[in-house]
Amino acid sequence: MGLTIRRTRTAGRIRVGSDPYDRPPMALAPEDPDGSTLAAVTADIVECRACPRLVAWREQVAREKRASFRAEDYWGRPVPGFGDPHARVLILGLAPAAHGGNRTGRVFTGDRSGDWLFAALHRAHYANQPRSEHVGDGLVLDDAYVAAAVRCAPPENKPTPEERDTCVPFLVRELDALDRLSVIVTLGGFAYEALWKVLTARGDALPKPRPKFGHGVEVASERYTILGCYHPSQQNTFTGRLTEPMLDAVFARARALAA
Ligand code: SF4
Repeated sequence: MGLTIRRTRTAGRIRVGSDPYDRPPMALAPEDPDGSTLAAVTADIVECRACPRLVAWREQVAREKRASFRAEDYWGRPVPGFGDPHARVLILGLAPAAHGGNRTGRVFTGDRSGDWLFAALHRAHYANQPRSEHVGDGLVLDDAYVAAAVRCAPPENKPTPEERDTCVPFLVRELDALDRLSVIVTLGGFAYEALWKVLTARGDALPKPRPKFGHGVEVASERYTILGCYHPSQQNTFTGRLTEPMLDAVFARARALAA
């Protein structure tokens, strides 16, 4: 497929390098015959250094590490999308967490937000297991693809508008590659706004004015139905602003719309 990401796991560590098991690229199934376009986007994403502030931050975090992950080698690079190349449902987040995706190399993997998200995707039968802990943990998505609007971990989880716009072309290309897609779940207002820019850039007809983001908001664009969902951040889940039934209702609606 031409994707050059190779990882080894030694003594509980994830290392970037040659893979003696020659495992498939992290975003694609080995038997997928049509994934070359997504693979090409993924390969370009992981090499990107276009945003100096984010490059510096993601690499600083990867060097300094959190004490509890001291024994691990952090990924420290942009985090590509992950899931089923034939998905009808895309879940779009904000950006990788400094010690989550920026550590493990897979989106929403190794942090509390991911625990919530993948547990819900498992309950909705989009994921084969409720946990997403590290690359190689056996997680497989069916009919769903997960990506972030900004691919590098930002300081304080706050990318600038310029950084968001610099990263937009990657999502444009992913949408082009996900040719069965019909529903996009946006996790939080930032992802919702970024998606609006992406769809505008692709020339998709959108309602005017843009409907305000909210949990459960549903917007029809020319090609997709966009669903709003509060982000499963600890700030939202700890306070009860987002509950498991609320998340389950969004994915039930996504499945019904994609059918
Ligand atoms: S945020 Fe996107 S555009 Fe900026 S460096 Fe990371 S991958 Fe590249």
